[in-house]
Amino acid sequence: MSARSRVPTAASAAAGAALADASPSVFWLDDPDRPEPLPPLSGRQHADLVVVGGGYTGLWTALRSVERYPDASVMVLEAGRCGNEASGRNGGFAAASLTHGFGNGLARWPDELDTLDRLGAQNLADLAADVDRYGIDCHLEATGALDVALAPWQVEELAEYADELTARGHQVQLLSGEQTRKRVDSPTYLGGLYDAAGTVMVEPARLAWGLRRACLERGVVIHEGTRVTAVADERGRPVVHTVSRDGVAAAVRADRVALATNAFRPLLRRLRLMTVPVYDHVLVTEPLSEAQLASIGWSGREGIGDVANQFHYYRLTRDNRILWGGYDAVYHYGSRIDRSLEQSASTHATLAEHFLETFPQLQGIRFTHRWGGVIDTCTRFSAFFGTARHGRVGYALGYTGLGVAATRFGADVMLDLLHGETTERTELEMVRSTPLPFPPEPARALGINLTRWSLARADRNQGRRNSWLRTLDRFGLGFDS
Ligand SMILES: Cc1cc2nc3c(=O)[nH]c(=O)nc-3n(C[C@H](O)[C@H](O)[C@H](O)COP(=O)(O)OP(=O)(O)OC[C@H]3O[C@@H](n4cnc5c(N)ncnc54)[C@H](O)[C@@H]3O)c2cc1C
Repeated sequence: MSARSRVPTAASAAAGAALADASPSVFWLDDPDRPEPLPPLSGRQHADLVVVGGGYTGLWTALRSVERYPDASVMVLEAGRCGNEASGRNGGFAAASLTHGFGNGLARWPDELDTLDRLGAQNLADLAADVDRYGIDCHLEATGALDVALAPWQVEELAEYADELTARGHQVQLLSGEQTRKRVDSPTYLGGLYDAAGTVMVEPARLAWGLRRACLERGVVIHEGTRVTAVADERGRPVVHTVSRDGVAAAVRADRVALATNAFRPLLRRLRLMTVPVYDHVLVTEPLSEAQLASIGWSGREGIGDVANQFHYYRLTRDNRILWGGYDAVYHYGSRIDRSLEQSASTHATLAEHFLETFPQLQGIRFTHRWGGVIDTCTRFSAFFGTARHGRVGYALGYTGLGVAATRFGADVMLDLLHGETTERTELEMVRSTPLPFPPEPARALGINLTRWSLARADRNQGRRNSWLRTLDRFGLGFDS
């Protein structure tokens, strides 16, 4: 974002005023329809499949299991409340891409990208059908996504990107600056790319809660407030050990275990270096008045993202607020995760400044919510899968910042692997290969922060990548949110 490297003090003051009353809480979870917590696990139990984690990955895995193997009993164990973490606090862009975007897929798996695209499109259609079939009220809107260019080098990148997408059969519209501003009126837009089919918008927490309800209706047992402390092996069968929020220990013996713990401390040693937790921060405004909405257009309600390395994503909510997130992707030394890290005065202030620069006609608007959440970044930005303990413990993680829809696909992959089934999914190179690990500390923090610094620099420098980024590119490594 070259134009944003120096922000005048007046802009900082305006951002501060806009943020003054913002509640440090997640807009999507601040909902009277939020379900009551379910009781923790107690005693010693048995289930055919135990799923650890009640975000999208865990809930899709449980739901797909009862759909695919109706005779198998399923239990979900969630440390907090289902949908409380990334799945309940994200931007709600449900993208068809299984590879953290077409560009990443093209760079890594060019030979199977057509298959990945087809499977991803089918997965998104199946997600929409599930939302319909289970009556999930998550305001799914098939409005598509608009990528916007804010600098001349980004206009060129978008044009190249459009060519690559079109060559692979995607129907996208490349837009001039004027055409883009006709859709959504920001003086910062120099061009755009509209993809009608590749993304639908959802209300993230309501999607998670709807999946939770669908699971319960189909006989899945869910225990919340139940942290899994270890997955042990007893005579060749996994035993999942837990502790409740009140400190009461319990256990469940399982035939199979699906690990859906995302950015949180992995329960398998082999996964410890595979992902890093990266904090992504978000703001939500008060509802826009009709006049405010008219001043920016946006009648198509597209999900919008700019194409800088440090990018913003934004969208309208059901009641016409603007959700505005992204830009800084913050890593804390030692892969630290802590509720206190969800609030970052400096990142929220930066986001607010960029918001007002993008939509100067909304000067005076107030933000009502500010929050952050952790993303499970891996070095290839797209999920990886596998099993341990003689195939009885499966895992799917590493979605980085694009897991709303891809987790549904990941759930099916995890079930394929746990049941030893060979499917089109399990034959994919993307599924069979694993990313390179991150190094241990202190090299990890050094490498990540050098990469972040280099990406910010590239944004200020017409997209030109320095030698560090070019070296990472050569090895297929990276850092993204
Ligand atoms: C701010 C933000 C914005 C995002 N925006 C988008 C977007 O617009 N589009 C998109 O596609 N993706 C987005 N993402 C990413 C997306 O939200 C995630 O990829 C997705 O929600 C991952 O789902 P999950 O179930 O794997 O993880 P989570 O939702 O994090 O769920 C993991 C669950 O496991 C539980 N858990 C962990 N360890 C244990 C344990 N030991 N015992 C019991 N339970 C445990 C946790 O409490 C948690 O509930 C965003 C993420 C964030 C944080």
